[in-house]
Amino acid sequence: MTDIAKLEYLLNKIKEPIACVKCSDEFTAGQSDSSSLQDYLKVDVGFTERGLQIWCQRHHLNICHINFEGHKLESDFRCLEKKS
Ligand SMILES: [Zn+2]
Repeated sequence: MTDIAKLEYLLNKIKEPIACVKCSDEFTAGQSDSSSLQDYLKVDVGFTERGLQIWCQRHHLNICHINFEGHKLESDFRCLEKKS
């Protein structure tokens, strides 16, 4: 039996959101109809030779590229849904 409390890290634990600077500027300037920056962002996220990259689909720009420096990090792809 799985202790569900131990899986709480599979819920949204983001403390510092990462956003495209250009998307952020456009949203702040009121140049979008989106109600939140999260809604406005359009990103690709994926593993690369170097590590993990976040890419802005709108501006075709790198947002962040994390270098794993050859390490294989633990990754958990399970989904955990809260029961309402
Ligand atoms: Zn952007």
